[in-house]
Amino acid sequence: MTMEELKNCVRNVPDFPIKGIQFKDVTTLFKNPQILRELSNRLYEMYRDKNITKVVGIESRGFIMGPLLADRLGAGFIPVRKAGKLPAAVFEETYGKEYGTDRIEVHQDAIETGETVLLHDDLLATGGTMAATVRLMRKFNPKNIYVNCLIELEDLKGRAAFDPDIRIDSLIRYAI
Ligand code: AMP
Repeated sequence: MTMEELKNCVRNVPDFPIKGIQFKDVTTLFKNPQILRELSNRLYEMYRDKNITKVVGIESRGFIMGPLLADRLGAGFIPVRKAGKLPAAVFEETYGKEYGTDRIEVHQDAIETGETVLLHDDLLATGGTMAATVRLMRKFNPKNIYVNCLIELEDLKGRAAFDPDIRIDSLIRYAI
C-alpha cells in the first residue's frame, strides 16, 4: 500500500472544529481492518530494533494506535493527558495555542531514568503539543526519545519546534 493509497483513506473535513481548518479524520483509516493491520505493521517495522521500553500516547487520538504498538514492541503504554485527568502525582507542561494556553500531564512514576520512549500522536501540525510532550519526557531523563505521528502537515513546519537530537517519523505527509 502506497502513501497515496493511505492518504485516500483519510477523511478531510473542511471547517472543523472551526472555520479554516482542514481536519484530517483518522477514524476512516482505523475502521478498515486491512489498513489498521498495515499501519500496525509499518509502525512495528520502524521501531522494532530501537529498544523502546515505553510508548507514550497523547490524549486522545494517540490512545488508539499507541497501546497497539506498545503491545507489539513488548513495551509499556503511558497516557499523556489534559490537565486534571490523571489521579496521582503528575509532572506538567504548558504550551501556547492559537488562543491561550493548554496544559498536559503525566504521572511522575510513569517512566524510569534511562528508558527509551516513543511518543505517538495521530497528527503533527505546528508541533506545539508534541514539543511540550518532549519537554515533559525530559523530566524523566530518558536515554532516547523518538517521535511518531501518523500524519504530518509539512507546511506548518512542526519539525522546527524540536531539538535536533529528536528523531521524528510520519507515515502520511500533506504539503498543504
Ligand atoms: P499541533 O500542536 O499544532 O502540532 O497540533 C497537533 C494536535 O492537534 C494533535 O493532537 C492533532 O490531533 C490536532 N490537530 C491539529 N491540526 C489538526 C488537523 N488539521 N486535523 C486533525 N487534527 C489536528
